[in-house]
Amino acid sequence: MIKVTNLKKRFGDLVVLNGIDFEVKDGEVLSIIGPSGSGKSTLIRCLNFLERPEAGVIEIGGVRVDAEKCTNKEIRQLRLQTAMVFQNYNLFKNKTALQNVTESLIVVKKMPKKQAEELGMELLRQVGLEDKRDNYPATLSGGQQQRVSIARALALRPHAILLDEPTSSLDPELVSEVLQTIKKIAEMDTTMIIVTHEMDFARDVSDHVIFMADGNIVEQGPPAELLDNPRKERTKQFLRTFH
Ligand code: ATP
Ligand code: MG
Repeated sequence: MIKVTNLKKRFGDLVVLNGIDFEVKDGEVLSIIGPSGSGKSTLIRCLNFLERPEAGVIEIGGVRVDAEKCTNKEIRQLRLQTAMVFQNYNLFKNKTALQNVTESLIVVKKMPKKQAEELGMELLRQVGLEDKRDNYPATLSGGQQQRVSIARALALRPHAILLDEPTSSLDPELVSEVLQTIKKIAEMDTTMIIVTHEMDFARDVSDHVIFMADGNIVEQGPPAELLDNPRKERTKQFLRTFH
């Protein structure tokens, strides 16, 4: 499970996370929604210390890190618990689809190449790209590149996958193939935190939704409550912009 307690982050004088608390149970999907600049990306980047929080306790898959007193070793252990999927895919441009997926298995897990390739092909199959194994990123569509990056995230079998607006750089006609892939992976009991502006998708796949504004969690709950029956005026106002 993931448990975040009193997470705080500022950039200079700007308070970006103002004491964030939430939990995600194993196998659950949490969606984070909220206006631009509300701190969504900063929140998920703090979970693996891509940004260093000032304070707060992060527990993921049995690894507990207190931001105010932690060692580099603890941070490394925490990082191994998650894998990130970025808006712009961030694939290795000089590696094929299969090499992108197997890289961490060979380098981090020291897995023999043949075994890594077997697992890599299994993961490419899961995202529907087994026929693209030898393609370089430049020869794949945005949606295909994002599906390779999802396969790559799954490779190390992390405790949870963190996705930051995984479809927002895609041409509209490519969005649904990526959302379907994420949904399929969610249905395999993968624990996920996903920042998204796709409200129908959030309603469909999430167990829990958080609405953030100005560095605070304004409201959180099951999608049917938060998205269809919000209590707070700020949430209602935000959701109206999607209708
Ligand atoms: P969006 O929906 O546009 O992606 P967001 O909710 O992900 O927005 P963040 O990227 O987390 O928002 O940014 C939150 C606030 O922190 C913004 O005001 C942003 O300008 C600021 N910020 C983010 N990163 C930095 C940084 N490295 N240095 C200074 N300020 C930053
Ligand atoms: Mg963002």
